[in-house]
Amino acid sequence: MALIVQKFGGTSVANTDKIKAVAQKVIKYQQEGNQMVVVLSAMSGETNRFVDMANDVQSIPDPREMDVLLSSGEQVTVALFSMAVKDEGFDSISLLGDQVKIITDNMHTKARIKSIHTELINKHLNDGKIVVVAGFQGVTEDKHITTLGRGGSDTTAVALAASLNADKCEIFTDVEGVFTTDPNICSAARKISRISYDEMLELASLGAKVLDIRSVGLAKRYKVPVHVRSTFTDSEGTWVVEEDKDMESMLVSGVAYSKNEARITISKVQDTPGVASKIFLPISDAGIVVDMIIQNTRAGELTDLTFTVPRTDYEKAMKIVQIVSKEIGAENVTGSDDIAKISIVGVGMRNHSGIATTMFHVLAREGINIKMISTSEIKVSCVIEEKYTELAVRSLHEAFALDKDNQPVVE
Ligand code: ADP
Ligand code: ASP
Ligand code: MG
Repeated sequence: MALIVQKFGGTSVANTDKIKAVAQKVIKYQQEGNQMVVVLSAMSGETNRFVDMANDVQSIPDPREMDVLLSSGEQVTVALFSMAVKDEGFDSISLLGDQVKIITDNMHTKARIKSIHTELINKHLNDGKIVVVAGFQGVTEDKHITTLGRGGSDTTAVALAASLNADKCEIFTDVEGVFTTDPNICSAARKISRISYDEMLELASLGAKVLDIRSVGLAKRYKVPVHVRSTFTDSEGTWVVEEDKDMESMLVSGVAYSKNEARITISKVQDTPGVASKIFLPISDAGIVVDMIIQNTRAGELTDLTFTVPRTDYEKAMKIVQIVSKEIGAENVTGSDDIAKISIVGVGMRNHSGIATTMFHVLAREGINIKMISTSEIKVSCVIEEKYTELAVRSLHEAFALDKDNQPVVE
């Protein structure tokens, strides 16, 4: 008997009809002899609606109360799902994060899972029930409700699969798997049948929201095979697994983009030891993740420092930087949040030069100016003006022949 964790995203449970259809799907898997743990998101649009309401009533919503609010969307879907299963004559129980005891740290709205108690889930599974767990939520040791960051139900599912030692974790969503780029903005995008954890980590961190990055990190660490597939068809999706030889022959496996970006520049900073730490310490203390950093030394002892932060943290970061820049005597602070980050990813890049140059050439040909560049051994990212995002994605997808099964062969 296999134990399967299946997660269904917001569009898969968007209304009661869809919840009933998902319940029937899961029952079928159980009837084939599997033990089923189901993780659900809130109905699509619900979490955004809660965020808007919170912003309406408090200028900067209290993080603890925000989590009490945000976690309520998943409470609705798990209860309805369990009812739908019962209505079909099968047994099911819904469990919230604090009932399971998904213990997290206290970083409200982006909490990290510290441990998961599996006793209660195992007990109900052994009683023959379909166990349905609310995604995206946990509880601190001192009983405060937390959420895991947007898209966090994927992380709940993979973390449960790891701690229950499940045979696989299936992520059901509104596309047929992981594609060479977002199929919703590039019609030439092609479904990838197998992708390595590392490539998926890069794609997710660079904006491919089909999987939450933290879920991929957990899957890699605990070797959980993850199958990303469509809720609405039965076709095979994408397996996210350990790297193998075939994957290395692909130069570039995907193009990702992120519009959740903002750029801050501090001009004429003293070029002396300790300045960078003075700037970045309060930013990281505020829980803001800095991504690209560029330092340009001017003549003399002054330098300009430019870096990117998530657009959702832009205002908070700006306030902090304005205070710090006065303390360190910088000339001024400027910023913009109409930028996007475009990236190409592929393990085949490790051993091949010229990939970045091709990317720069393609962007230049389209008249797209590159504002910042960063590279790692398996990716190249460029910051550009947001309005060129779709054009850049489609041009790079075509230039690297990602729409073709047979990409340029690499020795
Ligand atoms: P869910 O609500 O099921 O969690 P998400 O909206 O979080 O679904 O993720 C699925 C979406 O991810 C797709 O609809 C697609 O627009 C987007 N996406 C971005 N990049 C990719 C990619 N490379 N492959 C597949 N989907 C992608
Ligand atoms: N409902 C949450 C969100 O919209 C979590 C998730 O869907 O994964 O971010
Ligand atoms: Mg998602």
